[in-house]
Amino acid sequence: MKKHNFSPGPAILPASVIKEAAQGVLDLDGIGLSVLEISHRSKQFIAIYDEAVALVKEILNLGDEYSVLFLSGGASTQFFMAPMNLLNEDETAAYVDSGTWANKAIKEAKLFGKVEVVGSSKADNYTYIPRDWQVPAEAKYLHLTSNNTVFGTQYHWWPEVSQPIVCDMSSDMFSRPIPMEKFGLIYAGAQKNMGPAGTTLVIVRKDLLGKVRRPLPSMLDYRIHEDNGSMYNTPPVFPIYVCMLTLRWIKANGGLGAMDQANQAKAELFYNELDANPLFNGTVTNKADRSLMNPTFVAINEELDKAFDAAAKAQGLDNLRGHRMVGGFRASMYNALPMESVQLLVDVMKEFAQKHG
Ligand SMILES: *Cc1c(COP(=O)(O)O)cnc(C)c1O
Repeated sequence: MKKHNFSPGPAILPASVIKEAAQGVLDLDGIGLSVLEISHRSKQFIAIYDEAVALVKEILNLGDEYSVLFLSGGASTQFFMAPMNLLNEDETAAYVDSGTWANKAIKEAKLFGKVEVVGSSKADNYTYIPRDWQVPAEAKYLHLTSNNTVFGTQYHWWPEVSQPIVCDMSSDMFSRPIPMEKFGLIYAGAQKNMGPAGTTLVIVRKDLLGKVRRPLPSMLDYRIHEDNGSMYNTPPVFPIYVCMLTLRWIKANGGLGAMDQANQAKAELFYNELDANPLFNGTVTNKADRSLMNPTFVAINEELDKAFDAAAKAQGLDNLRGHRMVGGFRASMYNALPMESVQLLVDVMKEFAQKHG
């Protein structure tokens, strides 16, 4: 049976990218060697790496004031690496607590400086994006989580602040255009919308670096990675290769404007059904905060919850279960998820309502 992959991450990749990556594992561009067994300093891999960085810059329209790095350690390493590189002990950073990932970022930042949590929806189990908060004038940066993967909320606006925004974009990177001039640092684990697990994209404005007094271990110093073209040590070669293939796919398919259009269309199709269907409720209380990437929803009772889980699985709708903190269902709809998968989900929900309503 054809599977429709709604996994939250590691997540669906374009079928053509999987095919190309498989070919590269067997024989990279006809060189007679696998991408898995060549030096990271070989001319073949340097070309892959350079193309990945160039594509990131082109797709986001980045100037030379930004460094583009492919690091390891996941987004979770960036939770501490960002404050370690940007914040002195006696300085303040502002954080918005919009979900468990944001909460983890806050916990780590406290190890390195003063943290002011300017807004939080924790008391309401993160069912909306906190609003109407103020960033203290002395804050060095403002940290946001653009898309809250677990709770199905997403920023559809950016605050007017004088500070650079540091943003965890793990689960909506390259899903839509972003106003880069607002961002001082963006990080994103590859495994949601870019590639396999094992590398994290970091985009950092160079002028923000070199301002902290603490000594930095080399591997945790963005400048060392920038100076060495992400090759201070052996980088995650295969994940970077697959990211490069996905970036090629994004460009070939019209870039971020086209990704955004397709994601809007998929989300509209899904949420229209959710709002019309009497057997399901969305878990996000402010509809304006609904995520285009990870819609979360619950059935109106436990019996229907189990029955829908079975009905969905029977149609090849895979990985629809929600995170344990929310329950119910989560239909992750990253760039690579085709419209036909969302259409099938909607059809199964409709049919389910006819049968059980
Ligand atoms: C998945 C996720 C993370 C954690 O990423 P790792 O690469 O596993 O460390 C952090 N933030 C967000 C928003 C995520 O979706």
